[in-house]
Amino acid sequence: MKVFTTVEDLILYLKKSNFKSLGLVPTMGALHQGHLSLLRKCKEDNNTSIVSIFVNPLQFNNFNDFEKYPRDNKKDIELLENEGCDILFLPEQKNILANIEDVDLDLKNLGTQLEAEKRPGHFDGVVKIVNHLFNIIKPDKAYFGLKDFQQVCVIKKLVDEKKLPVEIVALPTVRDENNLALSSRNQRLDKDELLKASKVSQKLINLKNELPFDVENKKKEFNDFLRSLNLKIDYFEVVDYKYFKSVKRAETNLKCVACIAYFVGDVRLIDNVFLFD
Ligand code: AMP
Repeated sequence: MKVFTTVEDLILYLKKSNFKSLGLVPTMGALHQGHLSLLRKCKEDNNTSIVSIFVNPLQFNNFNDFEKYPRDNKKDIELLENEGCDILFLPEQKNILANIEDVDLDLKNLGTQLEAEKRPGHFDGVVKIVNHLFNIIKPDKAYFGLKDFQQVCVIKKLVDEKKLPVEIVALPTVRDENNLALSSRNQRLDKDELLKASKVSQKLINLKNELPFDVENKKKEFNDFLRSLNLKIDYFEVVDYKYFKSVKRAETNLKCVACIAYFVGDVRLIDNVFLFD
């Protein structure tokens, strides 16, 4: 695996190489099976794979969260080598943030609800860095996880609006044996906290069998459930899959997605479930 730590070296290498197709998996590291599932699909679809690891300060609205975000480059490199990743882009903060451009994007509902509302500036930071990576790397395809459903919608909007020549591939959430969605932040939880978080994921998944339901009632139910586990809910919403509009009543034929964000101590987790097949 080739490792690049500066934009300049990476661009030089990419210009010299003549790839048939290049697939990009952008990450913030502390890699787990969720990330690796993206890489596997990327390798399947492309003859060259590139993973980027950068804990992007622009997308953290909470400095404590940024500081405590898990980082383990040594282990990440090992995992990527084992998977047969071709290129790792592991830039220094100063290097990648130099010359980064602002992106003017009207996100509509995506820019005002759920993650956008609770984490002001978050998607501006995500869009800025992903757009920058696309400009530097010029991948044919880029791979994202539906665990961050709103993020996938935002990136698709970026690509559509700016007519970027990259195909976005969105892949299902990978969960552990207790159905907890894998997340780098899970590393910050102890055994008891992990068990509590998995109960939340399980309850979310069960919603698929509870259709149709009134969202306001479910909100209360989730609130009470999380309180009983000593967890704090940030939001519970059901949004329309296509327009990302909150719905009042969830029904199979509405094609909607139930999304939750909550705190386990000071660790904020998100999860979602598609309420249709
Ligand atoms: P992150 O490192 O958390 O920024 O995630 C990098 C990419 O991996 C994003 O596209 C995430 O949506 C995706 N990802 C994170 N967790 C999972 C998971 N459990 N299953 C599938 N994809 C995931």
